[in-house]
Amino acid sequence: MPTARLPQLRRPIAWLGQVLDELMPPGLVPDGAADWRPDREDAYCPRCGASAGEGSVTPRGCAFCVDRPLPWQRLTRLSYYGEPVDEWIRELKFRRRWRWAGWLGNQLAQVIGEPNDPKHLVVCPVPMHRLRRWRRGYNQADLIARAVADARGWSIAPILKRTRHTPPQTAIAPSRRHDNVRHSFDTEPVDLTGYDVILIDDVKTTGATLSTCTRLLKQAGAQSVHAAVLTVADPKGQGFTAI
Ligand SMILES: [Zn+2]
Repeated sequence: MPTARLPQLRRPIAWLGQVLDELMPPGLVPDGAADWRPDREDAYCPRCGASAGEGSVTPRGCAFCVDRPLPWQRLTRLSYYGEPVDEWIRELKFRRRWRWAGWLGNQLAQVIGEPNDPKHLVVCPVPMHRLRRWRRGYNQADLIARAVADARGWSIAPILKRTRHTPPQTAIAPSRRHDNVRHSFDTEPVDLTGYDVILIDDVKTTGATLSTCTRLLKQAGAQSVHAAVLTVADPKGQGFTAI
């Protein structure tokens, strides 16, 4: 299994965290992983990622997304946002369990289907603003994306960049999240014509970030975008304020 390396650290507290990692190496696999399995494909809506009961998803979507245009072609998730994955995400993001990104990315890689043309496919992480990355020392979406690409032998292309430092999506009301991320991203000057993109993030909440990123990738020429995330929050946002 590929393991992610911690990107270059840029501030003393992150450096201190790395020293602690060396003294007391965190495990590579989340607690409870042995008894856990990802969701079956029919457990959720392949458009919006919401949990779905048997027979409740039609080709037009589920009750949460039916007939609502979505910019990505489909969405793959490992799990709904609940035990134990909610705790894994918090550990991954806030308690320096960055090494878990390798195992989690590998799990995600196993549930992403076969692409039409692997030679014209790139994996792209949702970027983190340099200030937040500077504080945290790593971007977990980047580490997950690298694990996915390694596991499947695909190319990784960090094409997206974050141009504005904005509050975390979970810190503001769901109705304001599209405004919060609008004009916060850009793409590198690349031509994606003829390429399919797998867009990776750790969590989907309202989908505002994924929508913005998908539209930019399409503006850069991507013929399709497939979003893949570790977990999808309850569409009502319940239980999600702690992230
Ligand atoms: Zn749906």
